[in-house]
Amino acid sequence: MAMTYAGSCAVLLSGGIDSAVVAHALRSQGWDIAALFVDYGQPAREAERTASTRVAAHYDLPWQEVGLTGMSVPQSGEIPGRNDMLIALARATLPGRSIAVGIHGGTEYADCSPAWTTAWQQLIDAQSGGVARILAPLLHRRKDEIISHARYSQVPIHLTHSCERANDPCGQCLSCQDWERARVGAK
Ligand SMILES: [Zn+2]
Repeated sequence: MAMTYAGSCAVLLSGGIDSAVVAHALRSQGWDIAALFVDYGQPAREAERTASTRVAAHYDLPWQEVGLTGMSVPQSGEIPGRNDMLIALARATLPGRSIAVGIHGGTEYADCSPAWTTAWQQLIDAQSGGVARILAPLLHRRKDEIISHARYSQVPIHLTHSCERANDPCGQCLSCQDWERARVGAK
């Protein structure tokens, strides 16, 4: 299949299903992708790092990591400014590239909203002269749509890690439940 070159981007590859779907989608659109993993002290960082490297290898993406120390990270729930931090780190680490994030619909978090995406695009436009973009292909997709899409597109769900609480999946948190539904295809 002939592919059109879409540009270069950094995908914030957390090791979870959402960012794997983003990498899959952008790759099929012809983006030149560099994967970036950020260790900011999140509870499941070891398992997330392993999953991120495996997903990157599956799609043959160059992978790198940035570490940030000193943040106090709650076990679950919203972390104010988390996605702002991730985008800023990606901008500084892989300058000139568009930045792709796996934020999706159906969440109340302020940094997962269309208004937030638009605001970041304006900030980046002011610095890059309109060259770089914020790519949020799942922005208007609900989690169940993403899971269906992941299964249909043969995104390697088995390589991902989605427990937000622990390296060994707790089986209880919302992310674990989503992951299990994605894996077995149950409704
Ligand atoms: Zn869990």
